[in-house]
Amino acid sequence: MKRVWVTGAVILVLLLAGVILFAPPFERTPPEVKLPPEGYIGAKAVLQIRAKDRPAGLKEVVVDLVQRGRRWTVYRKAFPRGIHEVEIPLEIEPKKLGVMEGRCVLEVRATDRSLWRFGHGNVGMAEGKFVVDWTPPRVELLGNTRYVYLNGAGAALFHTTEDAFEAHVQVGELLFRAYRKKDRRGFLWAVLFGVPQYAEGREVRLTVKDRAGNARTLLLPVHIVPRKVVRERVSLSEGFLREKVYPLLPPERQDLPPEEAFRAVNEIMRKRDEAEITRIASSSGPNPLWQGAFSQMKNTKVTATFGDQRTYFYGGKMVGRSVHLGCDLASVAHAPVPASNRGRVIYTGPMGIYGNVVILDHGLGLASLYAHLSRYTVKEGEEVQKGQVIGYTDTTGLAGGDHLHFAILLSGHPVNPIEWWDGKWLRERIVAVLSPFLGEGAKASEEAPSKAEGIRP
Ligand SMILES: [Zn+2]
Repeated sequence: MKRVWVTGAVILVLLLAGVILFAPPFERTPPEVKLPPEGYIGAKAVLQIRAKDRPAGLKEVVVDLVQRGRRWTVYRKAFPRGIHEVEIPLEIEPKKLGVMEGRCVLEVRATDRSLWRFGHGNVGMAEGKFVVDWTPPRVELLGNTRYVYLNGAGAALFHTTEDAFEAHVQVGELLFRAYRKKDRRGFLWAVLFGVPQYAEGREVRLTVKDRAGNARTLLLPVHIVPRKVVRERVSLSEGFLREKVYPLLPPERQDLPPEEAFRAVNEIMRKRDEAEITRIASSSGPNPLWQGAFSQMKNTKVTATFGDQRTYFYGGKMVGRSVHLGCDLASVAHAPVPASNRGRVIYTGPMGIYGNVVILDHGLGLASLYAHLSRYTVKEGEEVQKGQVIGYTDTTGLAGGDHLHFAILLSGHPVNPIEWWDGKWLRERIVAVLSPFLGEGAKASEEAPSKAEGIRP
């Protein structure tokens, strides 16, 4: 009889143990916690913290900041039943907390709703090392182009403390990347920027940031000289639509009425192509490869200029507008196209309305583009010398006649190319400003001006 009782008790204890060990309310898997493993905490930082728990669900998340033996609880939240995953954008303003600049550790503790540990639940932890830094880099403007034509370009040279990590000039929504070189006291920076008419602003702002995201911004003293805008009315012929517009559309859009077909190409495709060109050309490298003025293709006539505002008509009805973002150069059919300066090929291939395209990077954010080509004779990654033939003109893409569409891009944004053919402009407005940064390149720019000298903006 006694043996039966003992056996019964043992079985009961084993069953209870089984319930505690394996039943969901007693699960023993701690929550998973993730925070950025390390980084910076600026004046106003936002850190992404993630916590996850299955099957019991999260009960509480606590975040502590620890520095020199002191501890601040920067986040504490209890969660209702049924929350298995949270993403917490943790905002920290170290100055307000009384935290000092320098190293600190963030500790995250997440507890789940399991009844394990006498109802305390499982604890998941993560910690990361951070540097508190709310001081933006110091900036000294050393010079910039004072007078910039609308659609034209300028340069700026500045010096920063060595905590500066990224810098750019902003005009409206357009960003122009600055490039840096180490010197004894920090970094020397150079930036090429443009003030195109399509930018949604006319102020030229320089912003310098450190790794913690602390930024210093200053307004550059730039006077923008207005320019006359050329307005052009273009009548679209049936033949142009048939031979140039419809072939650019995919098979399933061949039955669009003429107006809509033109819109699909002129608006949607144009926008997509321009964004793609900007993306490609913004990969420009840090070393200036160009030497002296850019050259205009020989024996060509400028048939359209930068910024021309075109209004298109079909059957007497307005069907669209565009802004011309380059110079059109007309010569004989299938004329050889030379590289306008020394550079590196960063793109060859079709590009929608621009037909077959070659893009050359000249460094420091500067690139040139050659469009409507029949074919190209260079490969991506190849270095080309000024004057070297890179392709042949044609009418590929949305081109009515054989010509070269030539564009100059700064951080991927098109600006007026004519300035870059002008050796005097280049020396006075760009090289003179950047010469401490360009060094040897600047000397090369002082060589005999190109034939294009005399073409003024
Ligand atoms: Zn063009």
